[in-house]
Amino acid sequence: MQNDERLIATGFREEDEDAEQSLRPRSLAEYFGQDKLKKSLSVYMQAAIERREPLDHILLYGPPGLGKTTLAGIIAAEMGHNIRVTSGPAIERAGDLASILTNLNAGDVLFIDEIHRLSHTVEEVLYPAMEDFALDIMIGKGPSARSIRLDLPKFTLIGATTRAGMLTSPLRDRFGISFRLELYTPEQLAVIVVRSAKILKIACDPDGALEIASRSRGTPRIANRLIRRVRDFAQVNGDGRITLEAAREALDILEVDELGLDHTDRTMLKTMIEKFGGGPVGLDTLAASTGEDAATIEDVYEPYLLQLGFLMRTPRGRVCTQAAYDHMGVRMPKPEKGPADGQVRMEL
Ligand code: ADP
Repeated sequence: MQNDERLIATGFREEDEDAEQSLRPRSLAEYFGQDKLKKSLSVYMQAAIERREPLDHILLYGPPGLGKTTLAGIIAAEMGHNIRVTSGPAIERAGDLASILTNLNAGDVLFIDEIHRLSHTVEEVLYPAMEDFALDIMIGKGPSARSIRLDLPKFTLIGATTRAGMLTSPLRDRFGISFRLELYTPEQLAVIVVRSAKILKIACDPDGALEIASRSRGTPRIANRLIRRVRDFAQVNGDGRITLEAAREALDILEVDELGLDHTDRTMLKTMIEKFGGGPVGLDTLAASTGEDAATIEDVYEPYLLQLGFLMRTPRGRVCTQAAYDHMGVRMPKPEKGPADGQVRMEL
């Protein structure tokens, strides 16, 4: 199954559009969790406001659906400026970026999602823009060509990426601030579910909210999607109220287990256990034997399985832990002992 088709896919889906707009927090106070990040960010914002300067460029990285786009909007709002939202793949030519940059006002936020997917030529335009707020334009062709420099308004670039490792180092170095977004705990997500239920006018018990939160793999986007699916079941099978029982029943039918794992996660763990003795398995081998894309495994499945302590990354590949065996209901084989356990065997 493609990641986009999964109910617990972390990526944006069309059905989320309306709900995401209404559920998106608009201020830092409404943005729940990510406390360490919020603490530093508040200081940086206050300092910039006091100095009457734009905020330094910010890089936000972490798995999809954790609130990077939302945070960029909040930063612009809290700084009292506008935001222009675009993405790496949408900026095809250097000219596209030049026109975006020249249309910004001083203090505006330019948000570039999936910034690791910018082309090399576009990136080259971004360097002087970020560093000197300048745009270098070539006029003419051949030997008579010359470059002129245009001043740009002082803006703040916020770049978001799921893969900080894929950013080129000249680009990474030009961000003054960089934040890693963490997966949310079930308790934090439960607060987000209660808030969303209120906005969507869904009656939801605290235990029902915690149940949905526990099965949302640490991701607000999934929690907001599950609450709407569970509501459908609660409405058809009961009185529409999301109780603990209603949440459990609906999520069981949707095949999202008590830890938020779905069919694909379980297939991945099962493959590792049955075909590879629990690992180590290389990423590409795992991708080939499960029919999933290696990048999707790395961005979407792994962060949560690592957080659950079901997987370990070793230099030789991914390894299933005891906790993964327990969850899958399989006994973990004992490690094989060498011929003279605890002794060094001499090769003669
Ligand atoms: P990303 O850009 O990281 O993929 P988004 O910013 O689009 O994620 O967030 C997805 C949805 O999750 C948003 O529409 C918002 O409703 C919700 N969300 C994200 N972070 C939070 C948060 N900290 N508190 C409340 N809701 C959040």
